[in-house]
Amino acid sequence: MPGFDPDRIEIPLGHVIGGALRHAAQEWLDVRRPSDAQIYARLPEGDAALVDEAVANSNAAFRSPGWRRLAPRDRAALMRRWADLVERDAERLARLEALGSTRPIRDALAWDIPYTADVIRFFAELCDKHGGEIGATAPDHLGLMIAEPYGVIGAIAPWNFPLVMACWKIAPALAAGNAVVLKPSEMTPFSVNLLALLAVEAGIPPGIFNVVQGRGPVVGEALCRHPLVAKVTFTGSTRTGAAIMEICARHGTKPVTLELGGKSPQLVFEDVTDPDRTAGIVARAIAGNAGQVCVAGSRLIVAESLKARMTVKIAEAFAGLKPGVTWDATTTLPPIISEPQCARIGALVERAVAEGGKILAGGARLRNPQHGAYFAPTLIEPADPMAGIVQEEVFGPVLTVQGFRSDDEAFELAGHPVYGLAAGVHTRDLNRAMRALREIRAGTIWINRYGRSNDHILPTGGFGQSGIGKDLGRQAFEGNQRLKTVLMALEA
Ligand code: NAD
Repeated sequence: MPGFDPDRIEIPLGHVIGGALRHAAQEWLDVRRPSDAQIYARLPEGDAALVDEAVANSNAAFRSPGWRRLAPRDRAALMRRWADLVERDAERLARLEALGSTRPIRDALAWDIPYTADVIRFFAELCDKHGGEIGATAPDHLGLMIAEPYGVIGAIAPWNFPLVMACWKIAPALAAGNAVVLKPSEMTPFSVNLLALLAVEAGIPPGIFNVVQGRGPVVGEALCRHPLVAKVTFTGSTRTGAAIMEICARHGTKPVTLELGGKSPQLVFEDVTDPDRTAGIVARAIAGNAGQVCVAGSRLIVAESLKARMTVKIAEAFAGLKPGVTWDATTTLPPIISEPQCARIGALVERAVAEGGKILAGGARLRNPQHGAYFAPTLIEPADPMAGIVQEEVFGPVLTVQGFRSDDEAFELAGHPVYGLAAGVHTRDLNRAMRALREIRAGTIWINRYGRSNDHILPTGGFGQSGIGKDLGRQAFEGNQRLKTVLMALEA
């Protein structure tokens, strides 16, 4: 697909409530294109009253026979049709996604949109595969464990992959028979509106998937507090996740699924078959989406004997990336989401240098004619494993490199006191790989690769403060249901 003209995109402005766009508000937020920092739309800010209306509407849709009495296989058919419509409108969705986020158009079209359709289909397939269990009770009784939807699920999504991250929440929730009210990030609000409108076109009853736009502390908190929201599912930073958990505890002791931050290591042992190829994997794992990926492999932990060769190759791979606007089809290094986030990355790098860190590549923001915020992919050798740059989530294209002389040292360095989202291990030695997967505390471990595949059956979720619960997999579907226990006495 060629690039596109960002000024000629039709934007579905507003909220989606009861199947239609709602475009009115007391307050408005300016929304900027990350690529060139231009204001391209105004976001009507939702408030507690609008959240109340959206949740009541979703609750009514959930209770209506059109959804509640629908056979699971018919629910599956609606979701498959929805996935078909996502594919039909792939170009429009991809342009909207690229315009408002950091996703380059080529990636949005080749990955984000087909992946979104694929995830919807995966969960559609689970609709009629899970009903519950029968317990091994005494023969004069029948014990049932019936899986039921919660009702209205409150979903809160981040800005880094707006459609995909939202879909991880919405698809399993709907497949399990719930209704959803979604609050997208106020920085990337519009592509999910189109997703919600396509759900209605597919025949999913209006109100089953509502979208309320606005800021986290206003709309997000109101959603978590709402008495008709039975469960909250969130993806975002650990700090916000903790705040949400507290609100959910105080307002109805609601269950939460939290997908949070990370500081994931990539371990490279000296026995890798092709160190240059591994260097390419390591570079992509931190430079993809300019490092704005929860599972970004931000800490390279490499055998001392390979360190010099690997760092040269990684620096070469970084130099080969082409920064540019997301609507240019040749861009391979997208912008940072916002000016403040770019400034934060810069400050963390400066502090790393002040603490004795050595810059091996990049190290500063990139000047560009478009005025967006771009940061050079950066490789830093920290002076100390406790340095802030090794410990804190940067959420930008910044990779630290630490050498090791023994496997024990590698596993020691791989540990993180707070996060446990993902890890990569590169080795040809099966025993080493087996030991690594036992030693490393992380929700996902990739061996001789880095990043997810399209096998949506594999769940994703963090250990420690990287999260609670799972997205994807059967576990995400089950996390959107609760079990009702029934014990029936049988007549002799
Ligand atoms: P964020 O926590 O700032 O915001 C996420 C969402 O929460 C946004 O919609 C925001 O408006 C909302 N929010 C903010 N304050 C809120 C509050 N008090 N109550 C309710 N909602 C509130 O995160 P972000 O900057 O959008 O995303 C980046 C973070 O997300 C990184 O830490 C990254 O690691 C994490 N992330 C994790 C995963 C995962 O699967 N584990 C995936 C993607 C991103």
